Formats: sequence, C-alpha cells, structure tokens
Amino acid sequence: MKPKVNRRNFLKAVGAGSAVTASAGLWFFGTQAGQDPASYTGMTNREGGFQTFNRRKWSVSKPTYEKVGETSRPDARTEVIFARMGQIRGYDKAKGLGEFPQHVQDYYKAHPEDLELDTTVRQEIHAKRSEEIKKPHDEFILSKAWSSAMGAVGPRGVNAPPEKWDFPRGSNTPYKMKDPKRTSRLIKKISHQFGSTLVGIAKLNPDWVYKYPMNGGRGFKANEPMEVPEHWQYAIVVGVPMSWDPMYANPPYGTSNDAYSLSRIVAHRLTAFIKNLGYAARPHTPGADYDLMVPPIMVDAGLGEQGRHSIVITPELGCNFRPSIVTTNIPMAPDKPIDIGVQDFCKTCKVCAKQCPSGAISHGEKVEIRGYKRYALHSSKCSNFWSSKLGNMGCRLCVAVCPYTRKSNWLHQAALNVSLHDPTGLSDIALAKMQEVFYPGQEPQKYYMPSMGGENASYRPVPWWLKTDDFIDTADGE
Ligand code: SF4
Ligand code: SF4
Repeated sequence: MKPKVNRRNFLKAVGAGSAVTASAGLWFFGTQAGQDPASYTGMTNREGGFQTFNRRKWSVSKPTYEKVGETSRPDARTEVIFARMGQIRGYDKAKGLGEFPQHVQDYYKAHPEDLELDTTVRQEIHAKRSEEIKKPHDEFILSKAWSSAMGAVGPRGVNAPPEKWDFPRGSNTPYKMKDPKRTSRLIKKISHQFGSTLVGIAKLNPDWVYKYPMNGGRGFKANEPMEVPEHWQYAIVVGVPMSWDPMYANPPYGTSNDAYSLSRIVAHRLTAFIKNLGYAARPHTPGADYDLMVPPIMVDAGLGEQGRHSIVITPELGCNFRPSIVTTNIPMAPDKPIDIGVQDFCKTCKVCAKQCPSGAISHGEKVEIRGYKRYALHSSKCSNFWSSKLGNMGCRLCVAVCPYTRKSNWLHQAALNVSLHDPTGLSDIALAKMQEVFYPGQEPQKYYMPSMGGENASYRPVPWWLKTDDFIDTADGE
C-alpha cells in the first residue's frame, strides 16, 4: 500500500514530479551511463567493474622471464609435489630408494633435501596433524564449514526424501547458535561469499510447498501427496543476475543457463555450510529441481514484489535474476516483506503484457489463484512461443522489457526513488510512458522464426561478443 496523500506527501510528490521531468531530459546520459560495467549490478567483479587495468599501456615485445640455456618440459610425476608425495609412500630410510621406480630414484638423487622434507611430511607431520585434529578447535568451526561448502558443488543432486537427504551424515549434534538474528546475518554474509547477489530469509508458509512432486525425483514418489517436512521451518532465498547484455538481446541471444548454474552453486554451497553446522538443509534449484514455488517465498523473504508477468521484481536487479531456495531448520530471524509500489506500477504499466509475443501475460485485473489474488500467466501460451523462435532456449522478453530491470546507473536509481516517493501515481504513468518511448520493443510478430512470418528479432542489439559473423567464417568454402 502506498502512503495516503497529505501535505508532506504532496510536497514529496511535487519534488518527484520535477525529478521525472528532469530525468526525461537527461535520459540519454543515463542510458550512456548504463554502458559502464560498474553499473552491472550484482556482477561488478565478474564484469570487471572495479578490477580493470590498462594493460595495453604496459605492453612489451617479449616476456619478462629469461631464457638462459637448453630448455626441457617438466616431469609431472616428480616435479609436481602432490604427485611426488604419492610416489614415496612406504619409504623406509634403512632400505633406501632401491625398490622405487627409476624416475623417483633419479629425482631424489638430484634433490636429496626433498627426500628429507617429503618423508618428514608423510611420516611425522601428517601423523601429528591427525592427532591434533581430533582435539576441539572451536575457533575454526565456521571457517571449516565455509571452506568445505565452497568445494561442495558436484554433480550429485538431491536424490532422497527430506528425512534422509536433508540431514548431515553421521551423528553431528547441531552447534548451539547464540541468537537467531546473528545467524541470519551470518547466513546472509556467507551467501554473498558463495556468489549470491540477493539473499532473504522467510518463515516457510506450507501453502507454497507443492502438493504433489513435479516428477518422481528428489526422493518423492510420483503421484503421491507430499507431506511438508517439519524441519522445513525457514526458506533462504538466494539469487544471481543473468548476464545483462544478452538478457537485453532476448529472446534469441539470452539464456537462463548463466544464472541457473551460479544460483545452483550458491544453494548447494549454502546447504553444505548449514549441514556442516549440524542442521538440516535442502536446496531447491533451477531448472526444475524444486519442491516448492519460489515467487511467493521471495515476497515473504522481503526481496521484492510479484509483478504482472508473475516474476518477482527486486529493487536491486528488477527481475533480472534466477533464484534458488534452501529450506532448513537452523533458527533464524526472518525478514519482512517490502512494498516498493510494484502493485500500483503494474496497474498502469502493462509494458510486459503489450510486448509479450505469445499473449501469455494478462492485460486485465488480478484473479484468485488457490486462494491468493495475483495476475494470471498463461503458461502454455508462453511455452508455445519458446518453440516458435530460434537461438537459445526460452524467451525472457518480459524480464528484458520490464522498466524495473535496468542496470544500476544513477538515472534508474533516481526513477525508482521517484516512484517510491510519489503517492499520487502520476510519476508511474510518466515513467511507464518514458519506458515505451525510450525503450521501444519490436512488433511481437518479428520475434517469431521466419517460417512463422517472423525475423528472429531481439529486443536490444546483440552484444559484440555474440556476433558470430565477426568471429567465425560461416561461408561454405568455395
Ligand atoms: S517469457 Fe516471453 S512468451 Fe513467456 S510470458 Fe515472458 S514475454 Fe511472454
Ligand atoms: S513490465 Fe510493467 S506491468 Fe509488467 S511486471 Fe514490469 S512493471 Fe509490471
């Protein structure tokens, strides 16, 4: 709910109106600022926003190492320490090296000091460490959980029911956490460490858990009702952005796979971290490894609001993200939902509904779905369009065209602020109009493949690094 109009809010709105007018005049500069990698919210490091260095200025004609004699290639069996250590297993000083392979003998003859060091490590230090590790070293509990979680991402997915899969192996007694608020803070920081841009925590509402599993995987029996496990008390939502420029070049050049993978990695790491602390945890990840619905949980976790296109709109990334969820019983203080004015904005905007090539997004009012009111999405129409275009899988045009999905430059932050502080709704109308004028879409038919009367069009130009013609000779070699 937006605040009621009173004198204070009216004055804010007048200020907001001026900001809209000023923004319109400076839109061009804002768009230019959007080209700056530093505005690629959520991936400044991956996009190099703060890590650039002008290498060209320091280019030299030859490398700064020196070639001073006859060269040779390294023997990995002996020159790589981890391989060499494996070869010296069972060494007995009294017997010497006679029974070891020739290359091992040759190496240690040439490097006798390494023989001393390598055998000391194997025979003395490792043994001491094994003993030492058995003693309690509480100061390393978190760092060990973090490190082990960082390496926990493998091909093994969720393949057993919650009462089995979700709990730590062995008889780990959960560590006694001092305070739910502190745990929430820790979980959020750790999630960012694991690669997440968005993170929020909700008390899990059982209404959001599927009644029947999507299929027979993940330990649930197909076509049998699912019980909501008692230990699914909280839901931690994490999310990472899809690469911005291909996302704008949807539908044929964008992909969900970039953020799907990262989102999975974060969720599996977070799951491993929580299990390391002795608590139950289960990841629910893209594409279809979920036991629950994500959007309403994101709303409960205070990450954003569900828009007309059914996707959650966040203040940081708009709807340009892919989420995962970890259900758990580690006691935390949940976040509160937020109201950033999306419900009002969507009433007037309708940009996604107008530009959706399949007509899947409603132009009308919200309807009741399973006891809750929201905009309906015609998923069969949507998936039909996916098959009616070439390029990468899926569509995501509704993500690209949504005015909230903009790189984080000063103009878009200002526009968000205007909408947030205007109780009259006038700026929403102006901003939605500006969106249509400055970010026009194609005729919906153009997005279809040529055999269906389309052109495989994209919403924005293709990023330079995806222009095949500039890099690959596709002529059939005459
Ligand atoms: S993904 Fe494409 S077809 Fe589906 S609702 Fe969004 S815009 Fe429409
Ligand atoms: S495009 Fe407009 S109507 Fe659609 S979800 Fe975004 S803000 Fe709402």
